[in-house]
Amino acid sequence: MREVPRREVGRSVLDVCRLTVIARQEVFRTGVNFIDGIAVVVERKRIRRINLHIGRDGRVHLSVPFWGATIADGEKFLKSKWKWVVETRAQVLKRSLAMARDPITPERRMEIAGLLGELHACWSARLGEAGVTWGLRAMKTLWGSCNWRKRHVTYNLDLARVPRELVEYVVVHELTHLRVPNHGTGFQSLMDDRMPDWRLRRRMLRLRTTA
Ligand SMILES: [Zn+2]
Repeated sequence: MREVPRREVGRSVLDVCRLTVIARQEVFRTGVNFIDGIAVVVERKRIRRINLHIGRDGRVHLSVPFWGATIADGEKFLKSKWKWVVETRAQVLKRSLAMARDPITPERRMEIAGLLGELHACWSARLGEAGVTWGLRAMKTLWGSCNWRKRHVTYNLDLARVPRELVEYVVVHELTHLRVPNHGTGFQSLMDDRMPDWRLRRRMLRLRTTA
């Protein structure tokens, strides 16, 4: 099974064209579809637009709104993005392999816990946020999350693989949710005050995000 992701990585443009032809012959439905061996999970959700993303395991997730779009629309959308899907999926699998080869050892865990402790305390004090607790655990899709009612921030263990300035961005981002729970204009202008180059850091962090 170890060989499968490696073979995906080396797919050529010719393969991509072949896959598109095969994709056209498939009967598309909600649930798991296999298009030339690539699992495409089709779901209907309460969303506004058709949404496509690649999971860390290489599965393709296609979400189609309940209203305003059909499964056929979703299929059409998927086909228009198929080249992107195949290429991005190859990158994701490559990154997953790299991550598997680069485990977070107990030493690295202690290191990131130390850095987070320092940054969290420093920024809480600077922003006037007292009594904010925090924890560290492995999370699949988020770098951090903030429970503003409990005044508790959870950080993703994967931050151990990220440079300090991006870890700092996550800390300030989560602490800012104590004032504004969403990512609207109020949140953005607070971030502008607190960390003027936060958009650049966010962009750099997104390059490392798989979800
Ligand atoms: Zn957020």
